[in-house]
Amino acid sequence: MVYLHGGYGNTLPKIEEALEGKEPGYQTTLQLQAADAFGLRDESLVRTIPKSEFPPGVKVGGQLEGRGEDGREQVFHVMKIKGNIVMLDGNHPLAGKDLRFTVKVTDVRAASEEEIAHKHVHGEHGHHH
Ligand code: ZN
Repeated sequence: MVYLHGGYGNTLPKIEEALEGKEPGYQTTLQLQAADAFGLRDESLVRTIPKSEFPPGVKVGGQLEGRGEDGREQVFHVMKIKGNIVMLDGNHPLAGKDLRFTVKVTDVRAASEEEIAHKHVHGEHGHHH
C-alpha cells in the first residue's frame, strides 16, 4: 500500500510511529493491542431486529448502512439469523482483536503539494480522480 505519512490518518498511528524516518529496506513486526488497532468492541453496536423489517434475502455476512445512537452513519454486519431475529453488529470486523503486522518499507518519496492538500496519495496505487 502507499500512504501519506505524517498524521493524515491514512494508516494506523502505531504503524506511522514505527516507520517514522525509516528508509527503504527497513522491516519490522508490530504487535498491536486492539485499542491501538481497530479499537475495542462496543457491545452497544450489537442490535437484534425482527427479520420482517428486512428486505427478503438478508444473509449472514451481509452489510447494511444504518445510523448509530449518535446519528452517524454506521455499517452493520449481519452476524446471525436465528428464527425471526436478525443480529447486527456495527463494530469493525477487526475490533477487539490484537493484531500483528509485518511491514517493510519498499520506497519513500516526497509528497506533492496536491497530495498534501487532499490528505491522500495520488497516482499508481493511490487515488485516481
Ligand atoms: Zn486527491
